[in-house]
Amino acid sequence: MNNVDIENIDFLCHKIQASKHLVAFTGAGASTDSGIPDLDGINEILKNDGLFSYAHLRMGVFGLLNPNFAINNPTEFYRLYRKTFFQPYAVPNSTHQVLSQLERAGILKSLITTNIDTLHQKAGAKNVVEYWGNMRRNRCCSCNKKYDWDLLAYDQKKIPLCKNCGSTVIPEFVLRGLASYPAAVKKGEAEIKKADVLIVVGTRRSFSSFDNKGVIFVINNKYNSRHNDKNVVNITQNANEVFKILQKKLQL
Ligand SMILES: [Zn+2]
Repeated sequence: MNNVDIENIDFLCHKIQASKHLVAFTGAGASTDSGIPDLDGINEILKNDGLFSYAHLRMGVFGLLNPNFAINNPTEFYRLYRKTFFQPYAVPNSTHQVLSQLERAGILKSLITTNIDTLHQKAGAKNVVEYWGNMRRNRCCSCNKKYDWDLLAYDQKKIPLCKNCGSTVIPEFVLRGLASYPAAVKKGEAEIKKADVLIVVGTRRSFSSFDNKGVIFVINNKYNSRHNDKNVVNITQNANEVFKILQKKLQL
């Protein structure tokens, strides 16, 4: 790890301890070390899978997560979903653990995520604002009956079918056309605005969505995610490794 990143982690540690309203925002990069691929990883899986047609590949990940595609092509949809987002047995890494420890200690005031993997909750976090909901929320595409993730996890080779009407059960975030939940976004944005220290982990989300006048720490191992705004401190490292160091320094 280079000296700049080491100094910036020290600075983050100091700011966490001195913070009045610490908020964290996590994206896909927080969960890659728990085996859940980010967008680059999903594209790799699609390319190497061999069973997706050229027409499917041309649609891209977001085209394949479209509700019409999922309802009309459940085999292909579930093949993709179960290789990527749907990881019910994934285990939290240091990022999730340290953030939940900070919440328990009363230091982290709000935890916001675009991830649907429930890894923050698995690590013990109680107040997670989920912009996209989570993979436990599934619905029948015909009668709307709700299902938890166990129906999808029970036999990973089968397409989950509604017990009421026999139609396909689809993850709610897909049925909603990947639209975020407005109430969650409103709550998240209010928390971001209030934060005197904001930690942004592993997301490519546009920075204009972070309306914040405090110090923003951006932890991301991808150089193209660096930001040059005056109040931003970039830590261009793997999030799991950064949080391991923080855990020691903060003596959590
Ligand atoms: Zn149904």
